Amino acid sequence: MGEQPGRVWVFGDYRNYFQNRVTLQLIGKAKELAQEIGTGVTVLVVGERVRQYAMEYVAHGADAVMVAEHPDLSEYRVETYTALVAEWVETYGPEILLAGATAFGRSFFPRLAKRLRTGLSADCVDLHIDPETKLLVQTTPAWGGELLAEVITPHHRPQMATVHPGVFEERPHDPEATGGIFYPEVKIRKEERIRVLRRRTRRSRKIRLEEAQVVVVGGRGLGSKAQFEMLEELAELLDGEVGATRPAIRAGWTEEERLLGQTGKSVRPKTLISVGTSGALQYTAGILGAGTIIAINRDPHAPIFKISDLGVVGDAKSVLPILLEELRKRL
Ligand SMILES: Cc1cc2nc3c(=O)[nH]c(=O)nc-3n(C[C@H](O)[C@H](O)[C@H](O)COP(=O)(O)OP(=O)(O)OC[C@H]3O[C@@H](n4cnc5c(N)ncnc54)[C@H](O)[C@@H]3O)c2cc1C
Repeated sequence: MGEQPGRVWVFGDYRNYFQNRVTLQLIGKAKELAQEIGTGVTVLVVGERVRQYAMEYVAHGADAVMVAEHPDLSEYRVETYTALVAEWVETYGPEILLAGATAFGRSFFPRLAKRLRTGLSADCVDLHIDPETKLLVQTTPAWGGELLAEVITPHHRPQMATVHPGVFEERPHDPEATGGIFYPEVKIRKEERIRVLRRRTRRSRKIRLEEAQVVVVGGRGLGSKAQFEMLEELAELLDGEVGATRPAIRAGWTEEERLLGQTGKSVRPKTLISVGTSGALQYTAGILGAGTIIAINRDPHAPIFKISDLGVVGDAKSVLPILLEELRKRL
């Protein structure tokens, strides 16, 4: 294949390309990491008829793309994919290997890490290079989310991590960008023990939390579904999306897909309004990328105020109707 330029690798999860931007977000971050260790970014694309994605990844910052195209790669098969990517890793020796913490990344990467006998930090909320050791520092919630741990992989390679969608920013699409596209030899293992018999797509109403410019989040402090509905109106007036903390979801006030935080989604809106949420670390891990955070809580000592830019100490039951009334007048 010749010289392939990047030793920071990103696994290209192209399925649902237009909705799921996590690979593009990872390329953006991988560029920074690669610069710190004096290398480039290579994206891996595995599937059938997938070369169009290679061009997209170059336009979003990849220095190189390694493509494996084969009819036997059309469906994700864990054993085939693991064997293929493990062989590439052993041949080309990347320093870092990243994937989105999507259902796919969460299933594939542990298997791959085990095969490569290296470590894996799952669901990272940040990554950086230690300036002294040049090791990848992988920040991930630990101890049930009680704290954020910084994990390093000093002895084994590659340093592997999966990263929450929405944590990093993608680079803008640059149609002029250039990068090498490589087609290494594809060896398919045939002794797959799992076969995909049928694939069904679940239809659901589009929830675009990760792309929303305004996100309005409701927590336990809202107290009832009726109060939560006020929040939905607030989001609608601001052309935003509704998010929720775990207790609000448990209470059945909204859909599971709206969960924000360590076990839910990470968002990066311009403005985020957090109502009746205490500011637990497991929740705030998902909102730290927001531009401006406005919190409404009746407890002046609630931890949410420590990370908010604007705090309103008051009862949501009285603050929300006033806010809604004002907005209805203006819009
Ligand atoms: C392993 C693990 C993973 C987890 N993952 C997540 C996750 O991904 N996302 C998540 O959200 N949680 C997660 N949790 C739960 C998390 O620890 C918190 O329990 C949760 O975020 C708290 O939600 P809350 O802020 O809505 O509720 P609470 O912590 O109960 O806070 C309610 C707040 O509302 C205020 N309040 C009460 N009444 C009013 C009122 N009338 N007006 C205004 N304010 C009022 C109170 O002062 C309080 O600060 C996880 C927990 C564990 C152990």
